[in-house]
Amino acid sequence: MTTILLKPHKEESILRFHPWVFSGAIARIILDANQTASTPVEGELVRVLSADRQVLGVGHWQVGSIAVRLLAFQTDELPDTFWHERIAAAYAMRRRLGLLRSDNNIFRLVHGEGDMLPGLVVDVYGSTAVMQAHSVGMHLNRQQIAQAIVETVPEVEAVYYKSDDTLPHKAPIEGEKTGWLVRPDKESDAEEYWATENGLDVRIDWLKGQKTGFFIDQRENRALVERYAAGKSVLNMFCYTGGFSLYALRGGAQLVHSVDVSQKAIDLVNANVARNFPNATNHKAVTADAFDYLSEQLAAGQQFDLIILDPPAFAKHRDAIKNALRGYQRINAKAIEMIRPGGILFTFSCSQAIDKDMFRLAVFSAAAQTGRKVRILHQLHQPQDHPINIYHPEGEYLKGLVVYVE
Ligand code: SAH
Repeated sequence: MTTILLKPHKEESILRFHPWVFSGAIARIILDANQTASTPVEGELVRVLSADRQVLGVGHWQVGSIAVRLLAFQTDELPDTFWHERIAAAYAMRRRLGLLRSDNNIFRLVHGEGDMLPGLVVDVYGSTAVMQAHSVGMHLNRQQIAQAIVETVPEVEAVYYKSDDTLPHKAPIEGEKTGWLVRPDKESDAEEYWATENGLDVRIDWLKGQKTGFFIDQRENRALVERYAAGKSVLNMFCYTGGFSLYALRGGAQLVHSVDVSQKAIDLVNANVARNFPNATNHKAVTADAFDYLSEQLAAGQQFDLIILDPPAFAKHRDAIKNALRGYQRINAKAIEMIRPGGILFTFSCSQAIDKDMFRLAVFSAAAQTGRKVRILHQLHQPQDHPINIYHPEGEYLKGLVVYVE
C-alpha cells in the first residue's frame, strides 16, 4: 500500500476526524513496491501517516486539492466487512429516524461524509437504490458496495448506478458509469417507476431525470408548505417533479402554479398531480424560464399568497459566489414584490459555497430593495437523512428561509 506522509502539524484536523487530506499537507509519497506509475493511481487505497509516523487513517487517493478522502481513522486497513458495516450503520440510522414506513419508502441511505463514506451517495426508492460515485475510489468499489446494499437492506432488491455527471471529469475511468449493478428480477421501465413520500406517490425517472431522479432533500420543507397551504394561491418556482406542489394541493391550496424551464420536469409534475389528485382542476404547470416568468407576472399585476423559490445551485464554485449572490437577490426581490400582503415566501439555496449568513444577506438585500416589511418565520436546512458530520461542516449545503411579507 502507498504511504502518504504529512508535514509536521498537518495531522491535527485528521485527529479531529476531518475526512480530507489536502495536497498541500503532504510532505512525501512513498509508493507501494508494486507500483509501476510514478504517482499513486487515482482511486487506490492509501495509508496516511503523521510526520512522526503515527498511523492516522486509510482512504481513497484523489487527484486535486483534496488528495485523500479518508474511510477509516487510526488504522491502515479496512476489514473485509467494511462496506457491509458502513451500509448497515447508515440503514439502522434511517430506520431509527422513522423514515421507513408503509407511507414512506423514499430516503437517502448514504450521504457521503455524513455517513463516513466520502464520495458516495445512495438514494432508495422502494425496492430500487440509485447510487452515485463522486470519487474514483468509490467507482472502483461500486460492485462490492451494490452487493453490500442488497445484502444489508431488506427492502432493496436492485441497484442502479448513475455517475456520468458526478465522477471527476478528468479522471481516467474504466468501466461503465451508468447501468444496473444489481438487476431487478423483473426489469421495469424506469419511466413508470413509482415510490411514496409521506403518502404521496411520485414518479422516479433515474434514467433521464436530474440527480438520482428526485430531490429527497426537500421532504421536511415540503411538509411545512403543506401546513401553510390551506386556502392559499401558491406559486412553486423551479418545481422539478412538483414535490412542493403535491404537498400544497394536499394541504388545501386554492390554486397551485408550478414552473420549470424543463419540459421533461413539467411532464413529470403533470403525471404526479394526475396520480395523486385525479380530479384536481386547481393546478397549472408552466414551462418557462423563472426570471422571465416572474417579470411577466409582475408586469401583469399577478400576486400569490405563498411562493416557493428552490433554484438550482447558482454557485457551483467559490469563484462564482459574487454572481450567485446577485442572482439570489434578484430573484428573491421579484418574489417578495409578488407576494400578496400577509403572504409567505419559502426561499432556498442549495449552493454549498454559499453559507447561511451569505444567503440571509442576499434575502435581506432583496427585501430592502422592495421596501416591504419582511420577518423570518423559519430557518430551514437539509433533512435528517442528509446528516452533517460535525467534524466536516462542509457537508452543510441546503438552507432556506420562510419569511412573512406584510
Ligand atoms: N423544488 C424541486 C427541486 C428543484 S431543482 C423539488 O422539490 O424537487 C431545480 C430546478 O430548476 C430543476 O428542475 C431545473 O430544471 C430548474 N431550472 C433551472 N434553471 C431554471 C430557470 N432559469 N428557470 C426555471 N427553472 C429552472
